Order: sequence, then structure tokens, then C-alpha cells
Amino acid sequence: MAKPRVAFFDFSCCEGCQLCVLNLTAEQLLDLLNVVDIVEFREAISETSDNGYDVAIVEGSITRDSDIPRLEKIRETASVLVCLGACSSMAGINALKNFQTMEACQNEVYPEAPNKYETALARAVDEIVKVDAHIPGCPIDTTEFVKVVKNLVLGKDLDIPTYPVCIECKKSENVCVYEEGRHCLGPVIRAGCGAICPGKGGYCFGCRGLIPDANLESMREIMDKYNMPFDKIDDRFKLFFGRNKEIFKDVK
Ligand code: SF4
Ligand code: SF4
Ligand code: SF4
Repeated sequence: MAKPRVAFFDFSCCEGCQLCVLNLTAEQLLDLLNVVDIVEFREAISETSDNGYDVAIVEGSITRDSDIPRLEKIRETASVLVCLGACSSMAGINALKNFQTMEACQNEVYPEAPNKYETALARAVDEIVKVDAHIPGCPIDTTEFVKVVKNLVLGKDLDIPTYPVCIECKKSENVCVYEEGRHCLGPVIRAGCGAICPGKGGYCFGCRGLIPDANLESMREIMDKYNMPFDKIDDRFKLFFGRNKEIFKDVK
């Protein structure tokens, strides 16, 4: 039986998630190519998918209305559409612009010619077309990428965690950063990264997105308990939440 044909596409992003795919180990790549054929991947091959594809892997968010017809065409062609990374899954870092007016963005970036370039609110791919799977992270985790693509084409459960980063952090026996007077979004963010940031002396700033039914009230209570009122939350926590601005509606 022919293997599903996979094509990669990008919109507004740094292309770091595709770079991660490019950097798969030989073992990971063989594992992937056992189940799919890659027919378009601009960062790696010059071929284009003129004869169609079955799975579209889309990186980047939609930040211009003129991108929409291209995205719709990709959706129309593919049987399965997968979002690759935070930009496509939740509008990602691009959605920082959503905290201000588009006019302010244009004036900031192109003060000499603010109207020369089109811009719009940054949107996740699923705000425009149906998405079949999201691979979280900024950037993605390559082990998770291979697992999810394989599971998808084999019709298995995708096996993406729905529990928070705190679970992995506790398992790794990290000292909670709240005990050190710093804050962290781990209680409401999707695990799967091995709590890498708190484990390396940092904190979770939310790159894998909210867990389903994230208890934001409880998050506020944790911060209050440690005398870090949510309304004083650092701007760094807005990095991945331009799409979920309601989280910050009370932030001064
Ligand atoms: S999710 Fe992060 S690493 Fe991936 S393309 Fe977007 S900005 Fe780059
Ligand atoms: S450091 Fe962050 S992820 Fe780790 S236990 Fe504390 S709140 Fe949770
Ligand atoms: S700890 Fe948080 S910010 Fe760091 S990789 Fe994991 S989800 Fe992303």
C-alpha cells in the first residue's frame, strides 16, 4: 500500500519548527519515512507537491488576510491538516501584536510607510480552517513530532499530554520556582516538554498552550498565595496568549 504523502507549508513564523524536523536524527527520520513519503518541504528538498498530498503540515500563523486563500487551498487538497508548533496552533509569538492596534504595529515596524504592508490580527490556523491535529511547542519536540505523525497516519491515539507541566516538574524533583519568589505558568500549561524550563533554572512561560479546561482561577489563587497578584503579572507571560487575551483582561 502506498504511504501517505506529506507536504510542509509555512506562513508567518521563524521556521524554527521546520528546522527541528530538518534536524531529526537518522533514526527518527527513518522511523518517519517508514510510514510517510515527504513530497514537499522547502527547507530540505526542491520538489513541490504538484501531484497532490495527503497530509499537510502547516507552520506559522495567519497575519494577513491575503494568506487565507492559500491556506484554504491547502485544506481543500489535504485529507489531514496538522499544525506544527505554537505559531500555527495558537497564533504564537505573532499574537503579541494582538495586544495593540494594527495601526500601532504598522507605525512601530514601518514608521516611514505604515500603510505599505498589509497586516491583521494574528490568527491560529484553526480560526480559519479545520485542523486535525496540533503539535505543540515553540519549538516542537522532535520525538513528539515523529510520534504524533506516525500515530496520525496509523490511526492511533495521538498521545499528547493533557495534564500540566507541574506534573513533569514534580516527577523531576525540581524545586518549584514559587518557593524562590518567582512565578511560572506550569499549573495551566500542557506537559510533554519534560518541564525543561523550570528544570534548567527558568520558569514555564506557556509555549505548549493551555491544557484543556485550564483552571485559571486556581492559577490566580496560587499567585495570590505567594503574594504575586495576577494583575501584576509580567509581560513575559503574554508571549503566547495573544489569542487568549481574556486571561489578561484584568492585568494592569
Ligand atoms: S512555534 Fe516558535 S519555533 Fe516554531 S515557527 Fe513559531 S516562533 Fe518559530
Ligand atoms: S516550577 Fe512551575 S512547573 Fe514546576 S512545580 Fe512550580 S509551578 Fe509547576
Ligand atoms: S516548560 Fe513551559 S515554556 Fe518551557 S518548553 Fe515546557 S511548556 Fe514551553
